[in-house]
Parts: sequence; C-alpha cells; structure tokens
Amino acid sequence: MGKFFITTPIYYVNDVPHIGHAYTTIAADVLARFHRWLGDDVFFLTGTDEHGVNIYQVASAQGVDPRDWVDRIAAEFKRAWAELLISNDYFIRTTDARHEAGVRAFMERLYASGDIYKGRYEGKYCVNCERFYSEDELVDGLCPIHLRPPVWYAEDNYFFRLSKYADRLIAAIEDPEDPNHYEVEPPARRNEVLGKIRAGLLDISISRAIPWGVPLPFDPDQTVYVWVDALLNYITAIGFHDPAAFDRYWPADLHLMAKDIIWFHAVIWPALLLAVGLRPPRRVFAHGFFTVNGQKMSKTLGNVIRPGDLVRRFGVDATRWLLLSQFPFGQDGDISEGLMAQRYNAELANDLGNLVNRTVAMVNRYCEGVIPEPGPEEGPDGELKAAAVEAGQAFQAALAALDFSGAIAAINGLVARTNRYIEETAPWNLSRTDRRRLGTVLYNQAEVLRVLGHLVTPFMPETARTICRYIGVELDLSRPPAETVRWGQLPPRVRVEAAPKPLFPRI
Ligand SMILES: [Zn+2]
Repeated sequence: MGKFFITTPIYYVNDVPHIGHAYTTIAADVLARFHRWLGDDVFFLTGTDEHGVNIYQVASAQGVDPRDWVDRIAAEFKRAWAELLISNDYFIRTTDARHEAGVRAFMERLYASGDIYKGRYEGKYCVNCERFYSEDELVDGLCPIHLRPPVWYAEDNYFFRLSKYADRLIAAIEDPEDPNHYEVEPPARRNEVLGKIRAGLLDISISRAIPWGVPLPFDPDQTVYVWVDALLNYITAIGFHDPAAFDRYWPADLHLMAKDIIWFHAVIWPALLLAVGLRPPRRVFAHGFFTVNGQKMSKTLGNVIRPGDLVRRFGVDATRWLLLSQFPFGQDGDISEGLMAQRYNAELANDLGNLVNRTVAMVNRYCEGVIPEPGPEEGPDGELKAAAVEAGQAFQAALAALDFSGAIAAINGLVARTNRYIEETAPWNLSRTDRRRLGTVLYNQAEVLRVLGHLVTPFMPETARTICRYIGVELDLSRPPAETVRWGQLPPRVRVEAAPKPLFPRI
C-alpha cells in the first residue's frame, strides 16, 4: 500500500468532450479504481484547460465573454464524466482562483531560479495546439495535428532556459538510480523523446501578450503561456502552497495522455520542476491515436463520436469496457462502432451475460434459489479453480502494466473456461441423476461469478455490483484483489436473485 497520484491531461475547452477525451479519462479511472482496491491512497485528477489565445478567439468569435464560454464547456466535461462514472477526486479548472495563485507562486520561484530571460520570439504558431512549430515539423506548411496553416507570431516574451536541462533530463530518464528518475512509456515514445532531446533543446517562450490568462507576477503586461499554466495544474491541485498536503501526493505516479502532447509532459514539465527544485513525475505514459471507422475523427468529416452516443447504444459499463478493449493501450488503433457492437454481443451478451443468467437460473430452477453446499472436488473442478486463480493474477499483472486489453482478456478467459465447465458437467443432467454433484457444480459456477463480479469492478463498476447482488453477496473491495479472488469464499446457502434481468441484452 502506498499513494497513487494519477492524472489525465486537463482538456482544452475549445470543444465539448469527444471519445478521445473519454478514452484517456476512462483508462485513468480504471487505474484509479484498481489502485483504491489495492489499498493505495489514490488521488485522481482531471479538469479543464481554459486559458490561451485559441479560447480567447473562439469566445470572441461567438460574441461571448471568455469566462462564460469556459464555464459552459467545463460544465459539459463534468457532466460527461459523471455519466461515465469517472471517479476523479478533484476537477481542476485553470481559471480557479486557487490554481491562479499557485501559478503566480510557481512563476515567482522560476523567475528567482535565474532560468528566465526576456527575448523576442518570432515563429509559426498553431493556435489550436497553442505551440510554435519549426519548419521541419510542419507538413506541407501545415500543423501536423490540425492540418491548418500556422500563424506568424512576433512578440517580446519571457523565455525559459530549457536548453540548459538536456543532460539532466537524459540522465533522469535513462538512469533508474538518478534521484530525479522518471519513466517515459511506451518504449517507442521514450526513444523518440530521448532522440529529440539529444538533437538539441531550444529555450521556450513562456509568456504571451494576451489578456486571457494568468498575469506574470514580474511583468503583468504578459500572461503565462497556456501550456505552462496547464502543466502547473498537476501541482496546484494538490496544494502547491501547502507543503504538508503537497508532499502527500507529489511526485505524481502517473501522467496519462495521448502521444501528441508527450513532449510537454516528458521534457518541458520535468525541466520546469527541476528548475524550482521539485522532483519530476514518476511515470509519463502516452497512448496512441485512434481513427474512427478507419478515418481520422474530425468535425469536417462529421464523424466525431461523443461519449453520450456510445452510452445510449451500449450502456455506461459496456462503453467503458469496449473502448479499452479495441486495441492495445499505447498503440494506434481504430474504433469502429460495428466492431464494438459485435464485441458487445460476443463478449458481454453471449459470454459473460449468459454465464451470469444461466447460473442464477439453474440455482433457481434446481435448488429453489439457494446456492448449495459444495461436495468433494471431482473432474474439471480443479482446473476451474486454477483458472480463477490464474485470471486474478493475470488481471493484476496486466493492470499494473497498463495493459487494459490484457486485463480484459484475463476476465474473458475465465468466462470462457466456466462456460466450458458447464458444458462438461451438464448440470441439467445432474439435476436428475446426482444431486450432490449438482450442488458442487452450481456452487463452483456461483463462486466464479463472485470472482468475476470483483474483477470487472475497475472497468464496469455497476455490473460488478449487479453480478454480486445476483448471487446474494455484497461487492467487497475492502480487501486487495489477491485475497478477494482466493477460491471458496462464497458462503453457501445464500439466496440468488429470483428474477434477474439479463445483464447485457443483445443488440
Ligand atoms: Zn495544431
């Protein structure tokens, strides 16, 4: 048991949430729930990034005050996360007074470090990314992410001496013994980041002459560059002002994000922290991009999927499960609603849902709704028990490695083994021929449901509760997974649900 401070990026409020945001946030939520179950002191942070040139322009174009605009969009994010059962401990907004005070305090410390100087910046800037691009980063002169032409900016700004930190960052990433060590994952991203640092770091501009932002304490005519402002949320949210509160959670255990913003998290952010004498986060993990039905998701193509669209079709729990099971976390992949529907019917309706429904139905039909006492172990019983133990171990190892599809595969494997066990033991025959053996088989089926009901919790919190209720027990997360899944803890003689609703109706 320890502490586990996990973050999503704070989302830029130029648009309402889409499934890209939901993907990262659900992944973080699964990990937060898993670590709470392990007994860790978890702090799960998400929020919204509300300053910057782009927000100022979007709001102005709509003829609204930026403050009203950001209030409206932040509320949309909160609503989307509530609908998806996201269990964040705090929702930060960069327009919060507490955050702004923390940003000012940090910028004063950074200024005092001597790593800030005034200079002139000229360059090509993508207002959607809120960053400058060099000519060789642009694709046909366009932003590689937004495929829009950057604008030319020329301003007097303050700069941070990022260039000075290259050697320290390389050592911190590569050497596990380095006092500031942090992991950059997956390996492809780590190599990319190290390669770019070795190619040379340029100092970065950390202020802008725009009114929508946090004024620099040492020059109120400029506001803090939106990316620096945003990164600082990770420390202002846990009480940068208050050393006791701050030390409880810092350094962050895991920053999760999509790969387009790994540079900010794996290079700029650790350097800013080192400049003021703070430790970098422990682990920075960037997941891949996904296409929707083979196409890049974009407003222009009209194929943007909102989390609510999936929830209406599949329900909340299945949406969480299906999004994380499409392709390995960390790689690029494709989200197809057709494949999600197929997977829903196969894994959730046919396999898991049917296992739950038929088990409860058999206990009702053959045993008057009461789970029988198990007798001696016979035939495939030992294999079923071993499968349950192995699934528990594989599940735990997979989640520790952020391998969501691996954890889901471990659960599916146990479901498949149990459905096979039912075919092998044929309880419908035993009900006429061998009541004692029938009792053992039905007990074993129900015991697997107890294990499964707990294992699905991080992905499907409502389903977990329902499965446990159907077999007459309470979901109990007070003991860690390894103890919970130990075989044989289901008390016999408990009453199952008399008329269970199918868990996942076919679509
Ligand atoms: Zn861009």
